[in-house]
Amino acid sequence: MTATNLLDFDLEGLAAFCEGLGEKRFRATQLFRWIHQRGASDFEQMSDLAKSLRGKLAGCATVTGLPVLTQQESTDGTIKWLFNVGNGDAVEAVFIPEEDRGTLCVSSQAGCAVGCRFCSTGHQGFSRNLSTGEIVAQLWFAEHFLRRHLGRDERVISNVVMMGMGEPLQNYGALVPALRTMLDDNAYGLSRRRVTVSTSGVVPMMDRLGADCPVALAVSLHAPNDALRDDLVPLNRKYPLAELMSACKRYLEPAPRDFITFEYCMLDGVNDQPEHARQLIELVRTSGVSCKFNLIPFNPFPASGLVRSPAPRVQAFARLLADAGIVTTVRKTRGDDIDAACGQLAGDVKDRTRAAERMAQRRTVMMRKVQTEPEHPTVGEAAR
Ligand code: SAH
Ligand code: SF4
Repeated sequence: MTATNLLDFDLEGLAAFCEGLGEKRFRATQLFRWIHQRGASDFEQMSDLAKSLRGKLAGCATVTGLPVLTQQESTDGTIKWLFNVGNGDAVEAVFIPEEDRGTLCVSSQAGCAVGCRFCSTGHQGFSRNLSTGEIVAQLWFAEHFLRRHLGRDERVISNVVMMGMGEPLQNYGALVPALRTMLDDNAYGLSRRRVTVSTSGVVPMMDRLGADCPVALAVSLHAPNDALRDDLVPLNRKYPLAELMSACKRYLEPAPRDFITFEYCMLDGVNDQPEHARQLIELVRTSGVSCKFNLIPFNPFPASGLVRSPAPRVQAFARLLADAGIVTTVRKTRGDDIDAACGQLAGDVKDRTRAAERMAQRRTVMMRKVQTEPEHPTVGEAAR
């Protein structure tokens, strides 16, 4: 029998597991605290657990993190870890310290199936979903490493953003228990407002997240119209802008914050013209979605063939949005010297050429599909 990794459970799951061992619920809470609050992995260390329980656990369970392949620290304090998830795949997590908070950027998948043009992970193609334990392991490791590294007793990570590799809402089943563990007062105790899921727009799963585990939501918009978004974020062909904006509006009801963050990656000559800003303003007005914009200067990587918008153009774009009453920020890039910035996370330690070929093939197929499909599929078609 293979041992069960307890990082795979939220508190409910751990309680059910402990019940299966004939143990009371409060034992699960104690165990959960040892693992997540104290960073313990050795059952013998868990001194307030009955010896009999420690013995049982040693026979059937483990607390196993992910092996760290590399750790890089930027001159600005940003730290990036590459974790081995087996079979030649690796995923990255990035810690970004700021004056009033510590943010961990967490991965949800090895690779990504959405295939956005400007994203290095997207160019890699999709390997597999991470398990709940593999998502939580990034936080478990980083939090307890950082406490030791910085010599701190109290919590270091105050915010989590699901903005690493992968599309979190295409790994929904593993994501939700991971989010619950992040939020649980017996684990990391993060506020719902400080845990952000970032999505390229998986509309049905946005509704489910709102119902099951509402946290802050960021939506990767990147284009103000369907034609351009179809090209940059291929998922738009399935869930076009009108549906995406309606889903954002619905999400605001259960959301812990009263706005959605729209992320917009600034690509030279592609989506950064005044006309695009005007279209965005119109889109926001007609949809009535309360929002903030976060403009991200594109972080280039060779295979993309795309170029970062010049800083003055980003500023001019931001001003147009701000003048229309939309709160707009321009994201500072952090960890530039260690390639830890958005969209530069690439964990494929296998043959990258093959991945690039797969991507090129997929894009050709997609282009053909676009030419034969109506530009705005009906709701029924898009849901398929
Ligand atoms: N899959 C999710 C979350 C991971 S990507 C999503 O797409 O939202 C996190 C953010 O980084 C997204 O807004 C994404 O569009 C952006 N991003 C991806 N590649 C980038 C790049 N090369 N430069 C700047 N931002 C990028
Ligand atoms: Fe996937 Fe997000 Fe990258 Fe698009 S931007 S390919 S959805 S990780």
